[in-house]
Amino acid sequence: MSYQASASRYQQMQYRRCGNSGLKLPMVSLGLWHNFGGVDTFEHYRDTLRTAFDYGVTHFDLANNYGPPAGSAEENFGALMKRDFAPYRDELIISSKAGYTMWEGPYGDWGSKKYLVASLNQSLKRMGLDYVDIFYHHRPDPDTPLYETMATLDLMVRQGKALYVGLSNYPAELAAQAMDILNQLGTPCLIHQPRYSMVDRWVEDGLLDVLAEKGVGCIPFSPLAQGLLTNKYLNGVPEGSRASKAHGFLKTEHITPELLTKIKQLHEVAQQRGQSLAQMALAWLLKDERVTSVLVGASSAQQLKESLASLNQLNFSVDELAVIEQILA
Ligand code: NDP
Repeated sequence: MSYQASASRYQQMQYRRCGNSGLKLPMVSLGLWHNFGGVDTFEHYRDTLRTAFDYGVTHFDLANNYGPPAGSAEENFGALMKRDFAPYRDELIISSKAGYTMWEGPYGDWGSKKYLVASLNQSLKRMGLDYVDIFYHHRPDPDTPLYETMATLDLMVRQGKALYVGLSNYPAELAAQAMDILNQLGTPCLIHQPRYSMVDRWVEDGLLDVLAEKGVGCIPFSPLAQGLLTNKYLNGVPEGSRASKAHGFLKTEHITPELLTKIKQLHEVAQQRGQSLAQMALAWLLKDERVTSVLVGASSAQQLKESLASLNQLNFSVDELAVIEQILA
């Protein structure tokens, strides 16, 4: 059946300005790292994407290597773009990235101009797009001069293949240097995409301050710690969960008894707030205005809806925050 977006799609979502830019992003965005690849079920991911847009999620995040196999998430998204979302292209913010291993040989990885230009061209082809809204360098490259990588991001914008550029996984000091170079080139960095959740708070040690100072947005990835900050693993590893899958990046050994104790305590706090743990974990990130949007994953439309409902209860009392700090300490 052909898709018609919900007429009420802009009624519930809240949007935040991304740093000092002109661009607003939905406070919850959807990532296609897992669940949208060649190994996944078309009907499921189509349902998730349609539900997202119907609820005002205007931002879909991809990368060259998402799948598995690598590239298949972009291909699948491209097919749905053509079938479902083509009439809505101007309502969508689509991002892609390059920086991890994508093809064999010296030009299929890291941060050279050769790799980034070829990779973005491939991504555009797979998705059937003329341009991406945001193109990221996916991780720092210790060997390529930072200037070469940043000049390539600037080039992509000048060529019209990307509207904005971003950085991912850059530590604070290197991010600041990269942002200064981009400013000099005339293509300011729009956004930084770091891993950030209740159980992984490295960004609080400098990076968030750099972003605020430079007027750059922040979109935390894995805000649910790949599903750990939900009720999913409270009583073991369920069949079909990310931790149960051979290709999943969450491994059972990550679910240590100490972590599980914390997760159970957080779950209780969430219940007292009248929220699920997933909802509290997202609200807890969004309480910081420097966080533009949380970039969630979902293996079903139902999961996404649960995440979206976090926006109904974003406030924390001083006491709740203190209890959470104690649990996380
Ligand atoms: P999350 O931390 O949001 O984890 C999502 C997973 O948690 C889902 O796939 C699902 O796993 C589980 N889940 C979600 N909601 C619920 C729920 N209500 N109840 C139970 N389980 C739930 O994010 P991801 O790790 O998926 O990352 C999100 C996005 O961030 C990626 O798609 C990608 O776009 C980006 N990213 C970027 C990286 C980078 O280096 N820049 C690296 C990693 C991600 P299950 O399959 O078990 O149901």
